Amino acid sequence: MTYIKYLKVDSTAVITLARPDKANAVNGPMLDELDEAWSRAAEDRDVRVIVLNAEGKHFSAGHDMSGSDEALSGQESRASEPDRNQGLDWKNGGLASLYQWESKRYLGYSRRWRDIPKPSIAAVQGVCVAGGLMLCWPCDLIIASEDARFSDPVVRMGIGGVEYHGHTWEMGPRKAKELLFTARSMSADEAEKVGMVNRVVPREQLDAATMALAAEISEMHPFGLAQAKRAVNQTMDVQGFYSALQSAFDIHSTGHGNALSVCGYPVIVSLEEMKKTRS
Ligand code: ZN
Repeated sequence: MTYIKYLKVDSTAVITLARPDKANAVNGPMLDELDEAWSRAAEDRDVRVIVLNAEGKHFSAGHDMSGSDEALSGQESRASEPDRNQGLDWKNGGLASLYQWESKRYLGYSRRWRDIPKPSIAAVQGVCVAGGLMLCWPCDLIIASEDARFSDPVVRMGIGGVEYHGHTWEMGPRKAKELLFTARSMSADEAEKVGMVNRVVPREQLDAATMALAAEISEMHPFGLAQAKRAVNQTMDVQGFYSALQSAFDIHSTGHGNALSVCGYPVIVSLEEMKKTRS
């Protein structure tokens, strides 16, 4: 794997976002690798707890807007990574192509990770922007370091929020609206206050605190853990979580459709940025 590292520490699988030079910005191959890593952890009988962490200063800068993100650039596979984008071609295939690509990699993957019947813990430091939220929200628990900041600034680009609408569930409707309407970032302390993260620790203690919590949980009965997780997730699902995610994904996609119709690009960006991205 190029963008993801996978390690086993006793009965904990540690999945690491390993693209620190790009602040762990997310692209298609990285998401596919991440999904492979989640699958490996899910299928390994010796793994009782899954930790998702990130190398470098930041957890994730979100969608890779540099032009190497197949979803946004609509580029064919790069020569070095043939067939990894599985036919995404919004320049010819329009919104349908983008919808299918995002449906699988954003909504589909995040929903699948959320339902894997093993406890998972995300360890978040630095910035966690937009696409980064879709990586940590599916985890059962989140530990943030004091410098962590969470944001979803995509309203600036004419989109109503990222593909996986955890916002309302994670922080309640008013804070969700504030975060989206203002594009501001939420501090770790505020995220803890609204219940989005479990605890906040100093940056230098993030790894140790996460692994200690994983070790503590791994002492519990694995079937009991799976059932406890299912009970909580199922409670959210009968309140509409699952179908709300699908609805909000479709709303998100109309944002891309609107942007495509007005500027021929899946998000509304300034002309200068568009030229940069397309050159
Ligand atoms: Zn999208």
